[in-house]
Amino acid sequence: MSETIFSKIIRKEIPAEIVYEDDQCLAFKDVNPQAPIHVLIIPKKEIAKVADASSDDQNILGYLLLKAGEIAQDLGVKDAFRLVINNGENAGQTVFHLHVHLLAGRSFNWPPG
Ligand code: AMP
Repeated sequence: MSETIFSKIIRKEIPAEIVYEDDQCLAFKDVNPQAPIHVLIIPKKEIAKVADASSDDQNILGYLLLKAGEIAQDLGVKDAFRLVINNGENAGQTVFHLHVHLLAGRSFNWPPG
């Protein structure tokens, strides 16, 4: 995959408001928040989108969800948050480095738009 702006954030070449980091993932505030809390959780491994993940990525995919729950707890929103993963341009993906959106702090509609 070609490199995205998220690789530059991982390498700290461009700034981001980081809320969590370890050797496998990074979580930072979305620059254009769609809810009072809007955090992106990304693997440090460059995977363009969910559909490009392989069986080698099974652990990191699960890890991102576990971390999402922990970050929601740290941010005080563990009882009500929404996780979104857009896969592909027609599903709304604009940055082709897999990321989980963690949204909270307002009510959400279903079905999503
Ligand atoms: P998606 O549309 O699912 O690919 O989500 C990409 C998200 O990345 C959008 O919500 C953007 O607002 C966000 N975004 C893009 N560039 C940055 C950046 N430099 N720092 C933080 N968030 C960003």
